[in-house]
Amino acid sequence: MTNPVFNYTVALIKAPSVARGDDEVVFNRLMNEGFVIAAITRGKLCPATIRAFYGAHVDKPYFPDLEWSVTGDVVAMIIHKPFQDTVKAWREVMGPTNPANAPKTTLRGLIGGFRYRGKDAKMADNAVHGSDSWTAARYEASLLFPKEVVDRCDAWVLTMAQLSSDLNNSALNMLTP
Ligand code: ADP
Ligand code: MG
Repeated sequence: MTNPVFNYTVALIKAPSVARGDDEVVFNRLMNEGFVIAAITRGKLCPATIRAFYGAHVDKPYFPDLEWSVTGDVVAMIIHKPFQDTVKAWREVMGPTNPANAPKTTLRGLIGGFRYRGKDAKMADNAVHGSDSWTAARYEASLLFPKEVVDRCDAWVLTMAQLSSDLNNSALNMLTP
């Protein structure tokens, strides 16, 4: 095991993908790639939550499209990939932001709007969201889930880190005369 990083990330299945029934593709992919779903909910985000969630983008010209992409039922999850940097691992599975440039091996290439509408698809219709960093993941989790749920996820990653360090130490002790 090299450089384990203990974190979780926030994944969203955006509204157009939920409406197309592609949530199943995302769940299968999560399972096949070894992610654990620590918390999950399905529902609508209120406009204030969307603005807080995408705070860095509210002044961008594409914000109306971005807002549209998470208006309607979305699936929100806190996911964790044991012994991996989950933020990075999930972004690799998602693929690049623009689904027109995303390989078919990534979720955005596979089920982004481009697949259905070709060049007429909105770039914001890119199937899934993933946090950009561990700091962003904690902020986004606190917006979408109750404090008790986020606290449980925080405690879990801490426990995983402690467990890993204990295991490493006991393995080293066995090697030390
Ligand atoms: P990512 O989701 O890959 O982290 P960003 O954080 O840069 O990408 O942007 C957030 C979301 O805003 C993107 O997923 C996409 O839906 C939308 N978006 C970003 N850039 C553009 C753009 N140039 N045109 C339209 N939508 C965009
Ligand atoms: Mg981003």
